[in-house]
Amino acid sequence: MDKKLNKLIKFIERAKGLELREKIKLILFLDGVKPNAEVILKIDPKNLGDKFELEKLLKDKGVIFLVSRARSYEEIKKIKGNKVIWEIAGTYYIYDLFKGKKEKERFKKYLELLKKGKRAEGNRIVGEQYGYPRCCVSQFVKEMKTDFLKKTYSYWTYYKKQQDLDRKFPFIFHRACKVDCEKSEELNKKYEEVLKKRSKKIWKEYKGKNKFKGELIVGEISDVEISGKSIWLGKEGYEYELIFRKPLRRHYYLVSWLSQQKYKKGQVLKGIVELQYDYAKVKMLKEKKKIISGLIHERKLPLLGEVEIK
Ligand SMILES: [Zn+2]
Repeated sequence: MDKKLNKLIKFIERAKGLELREKIKLILFLDGVKPNAEVILKIDPKNLGDKFELEKLLKDKGVIFLVSRARSYEEIKKIKGNKVIWEIAGTYYIYDLFKGKKEKERFKKYLELLKKGKRAEGNRIVGEQYGYPRCCVSQFVKEMKTDFLKKTYSYWTYYKKQQDLDRKFPFIFHRACKVDCEKSEELNKKYEEVLKKRSKKIWKEYKGKNKFKGELIVGEISDVEISGKSIWLGKEGYEYELIFRKPLRRHYYLVSWLSQQKYKKGQVLKGIVELQYDYAKVKMLKEKKKIISGLIHERKLPLLGEVEIK
């Protein structure tokens, strides 16, 4: 096996600043099965050396890449009274990795299109760059239009479809056009095989389950809005944001949950959340009487605006 590739994979396996999905993307890219990739690396006081090491290893391997400037990110630090308190936890960098020079030039063209506001055209280019199936990119471009969403889906069928897709295709990085999209099925299978071959450790970790049992707070409801108004007149159910009231492995998680039941914002529920792959399965045990009124997220970044560190 290629020594340089081996070194890179070992680094990816231990890198704390790469979340699992980012690790998987990198490995698929390095294998060659994914033509180009965009990967996020987070840096906090505990992994200051990761940026240097990743870039050195990529250069040694001859990978062409672009790296963004540093931006800050926040994490939930604690929940106190009606406040979900976020603190700045570190900085992150976005890496764009390319198969070759030609792909890098095409990517620049995509950025130009975005600047000009030509999002649909840009998305077609970038979809092709990342190896997304054409049928899925077309559907994605159509769904950028709220008129199309409104006449194609009801609130429930729209969010249900997204959840079904997440569960059906955990190894892909695009939104599949439909639950029985053959191309997505093929990619999902191929990506899992490659990952398993290149890093059994990451594959196992991704497949592993984490369970949380405890109190969950009902947060915001997902919606598609035009000037503050939902595009759907009625709702047959709700996609809720659930906030873990206590941390699991030192993290307060936010998960989405689709339910036909109506809950108030701030309602405290008791349930079991099973985290696997990139999604959560939620089983509600009981409804508590308690409602945290005036629940708010106290965030730092919106106050500061987009933070860029030069
Ligand atoms: Zn498709």
